[in-house]
Amino acid sequence: MRIFQKIKDLQVEIIKQKLSGKKIGFVPTMGFLHEGHVELIKRARADSDIVVLSIFVNPLQFGPNEDFDSYPRDIKRDEEIAVQNGVDFLFYPTVEEMYPTKTTVTAIANNKVNVLCGKSRVGHFDGVVTVVTKLFNIVQPNKAYFGLKDAQQVAIIHSLIEDFNFPIELVEVPTIREVDGLAKSSRNVYLSDSERNEAVEINRSLDLAIEAINNGENNNDVIIDLIRNNIEDKTSGTIDYVEIYSYPELQNITEIKGKLIIAIAVKFSRARLIDNKIIEI
Ligand code: AMP
Repeated sequence: MRIFQKIKDLQVEIIKQKLSGKKIGFVPTMGFLHEGHVELIKRARADSDIVVLSIFVNPLQFGPNEDFDSYPRDIKRDEEIAVQNGVDFLFYPTVEEMYPTKTTVTAIANNKVNVLCGKSRVGHFDGVVTVVTKLFNIVQPNKAYFGLKDAQQVAIIHSLIEDFNFPIELVEVPTIREVDGLAKSSRNVYLSDSERNEAVEINRSLDLAIEAINNGENNNDVIIDLIRNNIEDKTSGTIDYVEIYSYPELQNITEIKGKLIIAIAVKFSRARLIDNKIIEI
């Protein structure tokens, strides 16, 4: 595995590889790798000649009171995981390398951002589309791999690819979970032992909702209350949102019908966790 910290060095190498006909698979991450990231890498490995993994904690997508400084980082461990899983190029730029001067041009997500994480993390998706635009231009992948754990991000990146005409195929990868159902996340390390036990209720509430829907419940307020009550009764966390929308449009719905996302965000003392299920009725 080759490690690149400089944009120019990676670009020169990518151009060489593309000229010799190699297909590039790209996995963008913020590091502190876990099995969710590894699944994306494995999918890229299976499809591509060259697998590029980026690790960059992007300051632009963190709000002033969010966890940019304390976001977990462990590059040595990440390097080992990357090697073990067949990454060819690890791109690990500094903030100064990615944003050397105050930026003049950034990308803005206009649509699909007034709900879910876009609503509670104002400006977050502008930071995401800006860094992903830069990364797409640097890596020029044939395919890029994103996890459905961040389903709103997937919906917005689909729009980015379409609106900015990137010749890139987005591959959506299902959420990888712990054995008890908790979605794997770099932020799970922030949970205390008791919060870790309670956090399984996030996935459990979503499953309860799906069970109710399968039993014929089609009122979204009833479903949302069911999830809220379960989280409030069984955890010490604070609900940030529980919402249901059409997917990938992220539009309001009047009844439980069609392709939908049921999504939740819960704040524990040091970690804000998100999860979702996408269903088709
Ligand atoms: P992050 O490092 O958290 O920004 O995540 C990098 C990529 O990994 C994103 O496309 C995430 O959606 C994806 N990802 C994170 N957690 C999981 C998971 N549990 N299952 C599948 N993909 C994931």
